[in-house]
Amino acid sequence: MSAEPLLRVDGLTKHFPVRGGPLRRVVGHVRALDGVSFDVAPGETFGLAGESGSGKSTLARIVVGLETASGGRVRVGDVDDVRGGDRRAFGRVVQMVFQNPGSSLNPRRSIQATLELPLAIHGTFQGPIRARAAELLEMVELPRSFLGKHSHELSGGQKQRVAIARALAVQPQLLVLDEPTSALDVSVQAKVIELLQKLRDELSLTYLFISHDLSLMHAFCDRVGVLYLGQLAELGRADAVFRAPRHPYTRGLIASVPVVGEEEVALKAGLERITGEIPSAANVPSGCRFHTRCPAAEERCRHEDPEFTGDPSEQAVRCHVHSIV
Ligand code: SF4
Repeated sequence: MSAEPLLRVDGLTKHFPVRGGPLRRVVGHVRALDGVSFDVAPGETFGLAGESGSGKSTLARIVVGLETASGGRVRVGDVDDVRGGDRRAFGRVVQMVFQNPGSSLNPRRSIQATLELPLAIHGTFQGPIRARAAELLEMVELPRSFLGKHSHELSGGQKQRVAIARALAVQPQLLVLDEPTSALDVSVQAKVIELLQKLRDELSLTYLFISHDLSLMHAFCDRVGVLYLGQLAELGRADAVFRAPRHPYTRGLIASVPVVGEEEVALKAGLERITGEIPSAANVPSGCRFHTRCPAAEERCRHEDPEFTGDPSEQAVRCHVHSIV
């Protein structure tokens, strides 16, 4: 990456206390995130992949300020929010689009009120707010007549377009997209992704894209990071990571992609599927935390936590056996 990063995630840690016994004492911690670091350049789409329980949604919630980190730092442009920063300033530069548009929109509020609310809260838009709400609808390719409707009158795809328009209202630089299409029909998914691509290009937006759909991630993202039990296992250019995955976990995830075309067949050639369940984040394995499921594990993997090797702008991996030298 040549440009100064827009998003900097540095050593991000989130441990949730586990309480037990009659006095509800802290008896352990769920280690949702453990020292995650990556940068995203302006205009870049960075994808975060991983099974459920890998920590990707916790990371997304910390980046938008919905959750506080236990340690580390998130910086978007010049704004730093992880510990007690200015929430409102942070909300003007980063916004989130949630997985389920049905529950993220207030059913009692008209679409017009939904789009006007962030403009009123942040107070940064100079001009007629109603005209801006109509303009936001046009940006997401919905007619102005939708201003008077309520969310129950819209289809799933239309609701997600309204949610995207609401996120764009304060003209953020970074959008966090948490599984933005997974609740939609396949034909609608493609149209919403096309819209996101168009908006990214027209408005010079930067995206942090969370998904379990690796085929979509390969097509949509410039770079990707693969999370396992709260740590990045591999990151780099999407094309490099998907065409020649090095970490056994990335290889296993790609092997599990459903085959719908020649592209998926080519991606999966020679890869072994992962077996077993992801361990509990309250009981993280010693050494490399993937060793309990790894087909390439060696004795040292049980005791020594591997370091990252390689170049994160190209391909970097956290593995003793498949290090990049
Ligand atoms: Fe597998 Fe060892 Fe690499 Fe971990 S360090 S992914 S256990 S080979």
